[in-house]
Amino acid sequence: SKKFKVNKERCIGCGTCVQSCPGSTKLGEDMKAIVIDQEKLEQCGGVKVCPFGAIEKVEQKIKD
Ligand code: SF4
Repeated sequence: SKKFKVNKERCIGCGTCVQSCPGSTKLGEDMKAIVIDQEKLEQCGGVKVCPFGAIEKVEQKIKD
């Protein structure tokens, strides 16, 4: 299935996703976003939530 994932190469840790869609992502210790609620992020607009194109929808083989 397809899941949202943060491209850590692209994420600059701006926090826009955390602020505009609370509960969908959080910033990790490396100051890169981590998706914590797939459904919530989808409802907020998914990849459009990140103005830097760091949120991607990718095929995920391993559940995590
Ligand atoms: Fe990273 Fe994009 Fe979230 Fe900013 S909005 S913290 S660049 S994923």
